[in-house]
This record gives sequence, structure tokens and C-alpha cells, in this order.
Amino acid sequence: MELVFAEVEERGVQSAEKTVIQAVHKELFIDGKWRASSTGRSLPVEDPSTGEVLCEVADAGVEDGLAALDAAVAAQKDWAAYAPRERGEILRRAYQLLLDRADDLALLMTLEMGKPVAEAKGEITYAAEFFRWFAEEAVRIDGGYATAPNGQGRFLVMRQPVGPCLLITPWNFPMAMGTRKLGPAIAAGCTVVIKPAEQTPLSMLALTDILAEAGLPAGVLNVLTTSDPGPVMEPLIKDGRIRKISFTGSTAVGKILLAQAADKVLRTSMELGGNAPFLVFDDADLDVAVEGAMMAKTRNMGEACTAANRFYVQRGVAQEFGRRLTSRMAELKVGRGTEEGVKIGPLIDNDAIAKVVELVADATAAGAKVLTGGSTVDGPGHFYPPTVLTDVPRDARMGREEIFGPVAPISVFDTEDEVIAAANDTEFGLVSYVFTTNINRALRVSERLEAGMIGLNTGLVSNPAAPFGGVKQSGVGREGGRIGIEEFLEVKYVAVGLS
Ligand code: NAP
Repeated sequence: MELVFAEVEERGVQSAEKTVIQAVHKELFIDGKWRASSTGRSLPVEDPSTGEVLCEVADAGVEDGLAALDAAVAAQKDWAAYAPRERGEILRRAYQLLLDRADDLALLMTLEMGKPVAEAKGEITYAAEFFRWFAEEAVRIDGGYATAPNGQGRFLVMRQPVGPCLLITPWNFPMAMGTRKLGPAIAAGCTVVIKPAEQTPLSMLALTDILAEAGLPAGVLNVLTTSDPGPVMEPLIKDGRIRKISFTGSTAVGKILLAQAADKVLRTSMELGGNAPFLVFDDADLDVAVEGAMMAKTRNMGEACTAANRFYVQRGVAQEFGRRLTSRMAELKVGRGTEEGVKIGPLIDNDAIAKVVELVADATAAGAKVLTGGSTVDGPGHFYPPTVLTDVPRDARMGREEIFGPVAPISVFDTEDEVIAAANDTEFGLVSYVFTTNINRALRVSERLEAGMIGLNTGLVSNPAAPFGGVKQSGVGREGGRIGIEEFLEVKYVAVGLS
């Protein structure tokens, strides 16, 4: 009796998975219509927990890229003239649709990306909030009027949409990295061509339907899925009609795009890689610090640009912090993101596993000790267990490169100056985490750390209402907050002569 029930339940679960995949359009979206790729090719989307192909989506070629660009260029003038309130209302409706369909969208995201369903649902809410925030910002685009210092003229300052934009997003937050760019672009009156990551196109395709349903006019949003991003994107970047490129992804690819953008002097926003230090001082509240560490290390299986990459713990609390973190990490359930209670899903692919294995081997060869985890999990799918390492030498590779997995390397420090020097000794500067109960130290250290964002007694900095972005090789520009829409606006100044 029980067995039959379990079988029925299993069939039900599988059919829910099939239903959400079937509901997604698998074509390209150009000029308000779904259409096949001109190449006639498709690309497979895999479930990282099994390695099995979930479905195939259209694989765009150069011709499709140019068709998408033509559509975005043709729609630009009318879209810029749309009433800001109407642009905001479209975003607001899309916000609501995202929330209404959060369960199905979360399951879809888990299937293509791997994160636990509860986390995927959290990302849908986070993603939707960008639409709500920028719906509100659409009607607050303002300008200025001033008297020239010599009193003989007037300055008029206006803000106008940059023009057609190219948006490129990564696989680790398939929905939120899209809405974080689409929200301000749409609010500002820009048309777009967007290219989601090859490994996770389904969330963006589902979002496209939502935006169309919310009333976005044809040509404003054009979506390309492709297995050949370089050759398909470069002609758009060098065409001259695209006026801005907004990219989230690795620093290596960001540099290629910055070089290409130089050709036509495009506006650029670059949200690139990180190497976040996580500082715990002797005076920290250890409960808060361990909670923050769990958030900053295990969210998204550690596959986040904001993931804590290096833990520096002051000598007086290092052992206790290591003990508590190890016990929390060791109890996390690893498995397919659709399973009850799973906190750590699979990494995105075999390359991701190989990189983590290599970095852990490098650290242990240099003297690091494994407190928990540290070896791969047997079976299908790309799983790596939550791992804590201690005594990690400062020059280990994982201190310089993004781990992008659930591995927490701990090193001990003695003085504030020493730890700030270590924290800043990287070409990255996205986020740093600081745990202390001393307000003077908190402010002093926050000012001295070279990062675009500081998590002060918190392991989570992402918020649609706050400016997200990095310094150094972690990027250029900010997304979210009041400043987010500025990235999609040009300032025009009119010198008014008075006689
Ligand atoms: P990635 O390899 O740089 O890919 C990002 C996007 O760029 C994908 O859509 C990719 O397409 C595309 N792409 C790759 N080569 C290209 C080319 N030559 N021309 C145009 N587009 C190209 O990064 P990822 O592995 O997806 O994402 C992980 C990285 O993103 C990490 O470094 C992480 O720190 C960073 N990230 C940063 C932020 C932030 O806000 N700062 C947020 C999230 C992630 P394909 O999928 O087809 O390769």
C-alpha cells in the first residue's frame, strides 16, 4: 500500500517537472515573436543533479543576433517616448506575475541550475523585487535647472535613455541577474537584446513570456540563446547601434567585452568576479559570525560572486569559530535540489567540480587540514560536500581564485593591520565581510577595505534597493538602488542663453 502511494507521488513529482519544462518556449524571441533559429540548431539544457538532458532550446547564429539588434533599434524611439508611468506599470505587473508563479519558476530554476527549491524560490522573490523597485524609479527620472554662476545664462539638465542595450547574464542566478538589468533598462526607456547563459536559459525564456504578458511592446525585449556567444555577440557590440553593454560574469570574459566595447566607445556596466574576505575579530558575536558565514558560504552552493572565499579569524576565537562552522557545515544535507531538506545541490558541471578538487588538493598539499568534507561524492550529478579547511596558507591558490563551491578555508590572524593587508591583497574588490562588535573598528575597517560592498555583521549584502557592484577587477558600475537606473540614462545639458 505504502509502495503504491510512493510510486504515485513520484510520478506526480516527475510530471510537475515535465509540466514546467514543457510550458517554456524553446525558441528565440525577436520583435515580439517566438521564432526558430536561422541555424536550425538547438542546444541541450542539462540537469546538473543527474547530467541528463532536460530539453533543447534554439541555438542562435550571427543572423539571429543581427535580427534581434534590428528589432531593438527599430523599437527604441517609440519605447523612449512611452509614458514613464506606463513603463513602470508593465514592470509592476511583471513583478506580480513572478510572485504568482514563484513555485513553478523555482522548480524550473532548480532543474536547470541545481540550487535547492527553497533557495530558488528566494531568488524568484529577489528577482521580482528588482521589477518593483524599478517600477517605482521609472517615474523619478529627473533633471535640473540652474542659473549660471555669472547670472547670464541658465543650465537645463535632462536624462534620456542610453539607447539599445546588450545584456549578458551568467548561470548562477538565472532569474535575478536578468531582472537586475532588465528592470532599470525597461524603466529608463531602453530597448534590449539579452543573452542568458547557455547552461540556464529556461528561466529567462519563462521571464520573457511574463514580460510579454505584462504588456511589454514588441521589439523592446529580444532574447537570444546560443552555444556560440563570442561570434554571435561581437557583431552586435561592434555594430555601432548598440549604445551600452551590461555584463555579469567572469572577469576574464568581462575584459574581452570591454576591449570589444572600446571600438564604438560603448557605455559599459561590468559585474565581474569576486574573492571575498570574511574577517572575524576577537570581539565578534560568534553566533552572528557563524550565521553570517553559513549564509556567505553555502548560499547557492558557494557559486556566488559574493561568496566568502577566504576566512580570516583572529587567534582568540579561531578554534571556536572553526569548531562551530564545521559542525554546521557537516550537518547540511547534500542532494538534488528538489528533495526535501536538501541545502546543498549539485555544482553546475564537471569543470566546476574539477576546479574545487584542484584547489582543495593545492591547499592540503601546502599544509591545510580538512575539518569536514574534502572529497568528491560518488554517483551521477556534480556534487561536492560542504568542506571546512583550517591552517590554509595565505599563498594557497584558493586565496587568489574564486572557489565557486561549498569550501570554507580558514586562516588565523593577529592584528587589524595584518588582516586588512591580507584582505586587500587581491585584484578583486566586490565584497568584504566584517564581524566585530566594536563600532570604531567596524567603521575603520570598512573604510580601509578595498571593496564595493561591505557586509558588516551580516553575510548577505544583496538587496534590490542598494547599490551592488565592485571595485578593481570586480567591475565597473552599480546595479540596484537609486543609482541603478543611472547606468541606463545619458545626461544631456542644454546651455540656455538669455538676452
Ligand atoms: P562567464 O563564463 O563569464 O559567462 C557569463 C556570460 O557571458 C554567459 O552568458 C556566457 O555565455 C557569456 N559569454 C562567455 N563568453 C563570451 C564572449 N566571448 N562574448 C560574449 N559573451 C560571452 O561567467 P559564468 O561562469 O557564467 O558566471 C560565473 C562568474 O560570474 C563568476 O566569476 C562570478 O563571480 C561572476 N558573477 C558576478 C556577479 C556580480 O554581480 N559581480 C554576479 C554573478 C556572477 P555561455 O553561457 O554560453 O558561456
